[in-house]
Amino acid sequence: MGIGRRRILFVISAPSGTGKTTICERILQKIPDLKMSVSHTTRKQRPGERHGIDYYFVDKETFQEMIKNEDFVEWAEVYGNFYGTSKKVINELLSGGSDILLDIDTQGAKNIKKLYPASVLIFILPPSIKELERRLKKRNEEEETIRKRIEKASEEISQYIFYDYVIINDDLERAVSEVFCVICAERLKKDRINGKLMDKFKNGR
Ligand code: 5GP
Repeated sequence: MGIGRRRILFVISAPSGTGKTTICERILQKIPDLKMSVSHTTRKQRPGERHGIDYYFVDKETFQEMIKNEDFVEWAEVYGNFYGTSKKVINELLSGGSDILLDIDTQGAKNIKKLYPASVLIFILPPSIKELERRLKKRNEEEETIRKRIEKASEEISQYIFYDYVIINDDLERAVSEVFCVICAERLKKDRINGKLMDKFKNGR
């Protein structure tokens, strides 16, 4: 018998190149009743990315219109592009009975925590800035992009204090199982139980 509990928003943030996307993919394979929130973005679609699966790719005018209509739970400008979590996406996932995984930046994470204090913020760290630089170079990113991302990484890392959990990705398998453990433990917290637990154990039920 399962105990009814409130749905949870899990937020994962990490500097670009930390391996966050791979970690999220692995976690979604391991935990079926956890669904990824698909964000809207004005950034250009990269090869292999699918509209509606990786992102909803929209133009700036559409994004601005959505801001005006208050369609976003949160939105932010990251590397000159706009990214936002839509209320519709979140509400649909919540009413479908899933917990939600959000891959968003540190500004978005702070806003989610303000709006949903029971959300869980997980920060993934690279083993070092040197290692991060090596990983970004391996991705064949341009020098200027690497420089910008490294600069932003130090700024982002300083935001770890707002997070509930900090995990270092120096070993992918271990980082995945640590995120897995956080999700399992958070799901078992007594504060998340819906209604009165004792009612289920009264009158021989
Ligand atoms: P990328 O362009 O590499 O997919 O993502 C760039 C950054 O934008 C990442 O840090 C990612 O977590 C963040 N991001 C993606 N979607 C959202 C969103 O809906 N809101 C916010 N605040 N950040 C987002």
